[in-house]
Amino acid sequence: MEIQQLEFLKHILQFKRHVYLDHNATTPVSGHVRRKMNQVLKNHFGNPSSFYGSGRKSAELIEQARQQVASAIHARPSEVYFTGCATESNNAVLKSVSARFYPEKRKIVSTPIEHPSVMSMLAYLETQGVMVEYCPVDGQGRVLLAELEQRVDDDTFLVCCMLANNETGALQDLLAVARVARRHGALVLADCVQALGKIPVDVHAWGVDYASFSAHKLYGPKGVGALYVKQDRHIAPWQIGGHQEGGLRAGTESLHNIVGFGAACQEVNQLLGHAQQTLPLKRQLMQRLKEIKPDCVFNSPEADEHCLPNTLSVTFPGVDNAGLMGMLDYRGIAVSAGSACSTGEATPSHVLKAIGLSDQSARETIRISLGRTTSARDIRYIAQVIQDYLEDRMPLVNMLTSAQLNERLLFDDGMFILDVRPPDDRKKHKGLPNSHEVSPVAVERYLGQLPRDKRILVYCPGGGLSLMVSYYLKAKGFKQVFNLRGGLDGWRQRRGDLYQKYAGQGVTVLQPDVPDGPR
Ligand code: PLP
Repeated sequence: MEIQQLEFLKHILQFKRHVYLDHNATTPVSGHVRRKMNQVLKNHFGNPSSFYGSGRKSAELIEQARQQVASAIHARPSEVYFTGCATESNNAVLKSVSARFYPEKRKIVSTPIEHPSVMSMLAYLETQGVMVEYCPVDGQGRVLLAELEQRVDDDTFLVCCMLANNETGALQDLLAVARVARRHGALVLADCVQALGKIPVDVHAWGVDYASFSAHKLYGPKGVGALYVKQDRHIAPWQIGGHQEGGLRAGTESLHNIVGFGAACQEVNQLLGHAQQTLPLKRQLMQRLKEIKPDCVFNSPEADEHCLPNTLSVTFPGVDNAGLMGMLDYRGIAVSAGSACSTGEATPSHVLKAIGLSDQSARETIRISLGRTTSARDIRYIAQVIQDYLEDRMPLVNMLTSAQLNERLLFDDGMFILDVRPPDDRKKHKGLPNSHEVSPVAVERYLGQLPRDKRILVYCPGGGLSLMVSYYLKAKGFKQVFNLRGGLDGWRQRRGDLYQKYAGQGVTVLQPDVPDGPR
């Protein structure tokens, strides 16, 4: 076989490989969970509120799942409520407890590293008059207990502190946090979403009053969460209608998802074993990364007892994370820049900033989160791809800065401008002049319309998503692909004059080559 053919074969094989290292974003549904869910979808359609046999069977399945979840978190079944997701669980507690205690007491104390489902609700509550104080964390993302002591006082009705951070894996001492809160008669909400299935969870032992969970983080289905409410603690209905979930969350239950969550919880002990097995793999990866780039910085806590075993946040000084992630994606590896929700946004992660990283360092950081099928081979593969990238052994996407994108380039006939922004961003801001809008999640449906003899400039709101698309186009043989660094947001800020003058002119909405439907 000729060298060229060998190279081609290598290229094909590289693209065949898929390595998923973003288990903190979500996990694949386990075989056991899928089987249980399929049984429900096939055999049990009765409405759990109906009195006849099939309804009663469905109600029984829900109670069984409730027991399974309760057992996994060490609670009583009567303390577990099913929700649509952990975001809902967090929102429900924050709203309900604020409505009950404010304005007799005025303050919530939280941390600056909470998930957006908490942070955004806290910001909303502030607009309603609630005082929110954020207790600082140390450089490893651990709550400074002495600072917490200073902030929690008799005016505090809630302390809201996550157990495990989704971006860095940092763990908090919930027992100590709850002790501080109790001393002042404050309640505690603990977001335990990332912990369940990775470290032991015991809500009773910690003495927290509320806790949130989500099935899709532990190999269960998406669209179902749980809320733990300690017996006799206040909680008001957050969805009003029928009597489901003790009258707190009206609406016919998502039976198959709830059963799926229960089934995922049945596997928790097994998952804890798997999670421990990811620790030596994470250590290997850290060692390799240090060899490849000695100045890389690990943002996850050093000590095993202070960090989720599967999570590694790493900063590569001088390396834009969007480019690195795009390249990893190009080679079949999924990692993320921060929480899944904020990927693609231009703003750097609030978690990384809270632990002391500059905006620049935050933009040079990726999160790698291992899962139960991660192998030593996967670790070697990602290390190799990172090394190839850092040593410039990869096909390059050209980067265009906001300053470089001037009138001449905008109206250059040899430049084809591709808009891969999500629809909501298109509603908010006009696009670059002469751009061509495609669906950002189905770029492959438009390939026939993209000119191979022109330079293609790809842009999105923040510059991350477009970079992934740029690498995809490179993989599809497009020779000259450019990515707008900082995206439209950056360009609007830097070149407000050009935006005002030209944005939205001559925009074409492309129709897919391949119509929608099963692929
Ligand atoms: N809390 C944390 C720490 C998370 O990581 C997530 C999801 O990423 C959530 C809450 C929200 O969970 P859900 O996707 O079920 O709304």
